[in-house]
Amino acid sequence: MTSNNFMRLEFAAKSINEGFARTAIAAFAAQLDPTLEDIVELKTAVSEAVTNAIIHGYEGRGGVVTLTAEMIDNNTGISITVEDSGCGIEDIEQSRRPLYTSKPDEGRAGMGFAVMETFMDTLTVTSAKNEGTKVCMTKKFKTE
Ligand code: ATP
Ligand code: MG
Repeated sequence: MTSNNFMRLEFAAKSINEGFARTAIAAFAAQLDPTLEDIVELKTAVSEAVTNAIIHGYEGRGGVVTLTAEMIDNNTGISITVEDSGCGIEDIEQSRRPLYTSKPDEGRAGMGFAVMETFMDTLTVTSAKNEGTKVCMTKKFKTE
């Protein structure tokens, strides 16, 4: 058991909860007094991962999304996971490539993973077909 502060949330895989997830991560991270820029970047990365779980993982059919966050490195950074028990990703390398999308006809840009990479320091994706997908991200906070 870690002595680091952490939180764990489960919510329905509904688009309406994207806003909830953004707000929740911002509220949890706020205790470290981060810059507005860091908060915006965290919210955006979480939003992309949660959207992916809802529309790709569960293909809009619903399910449970788990969001966790833990303070790391003596409260100088945060580790976040977004997990679904959906369809999984067959080719992770291809999926992470900027501009790759499996839903081009639905107006998807294929930029979600690229955005997460840009805004976070590390990004790890693990997935198994028909079992689900877990996205782990870490970020060090800027100091003012
Ligand atoms: P955008 O995020 O720009 O709207 P996108 O969602 O297609 O478009 P990414 O977020 O980069 O782009 O994801 C790339 C691809 O990876 C998706 O098109 C989808 O095929 C796959 N993918 C991403 N997350 C998941 C997930 N949780 N479960 C299953 N497949 C996923
Ligand atoms: Mg996406």
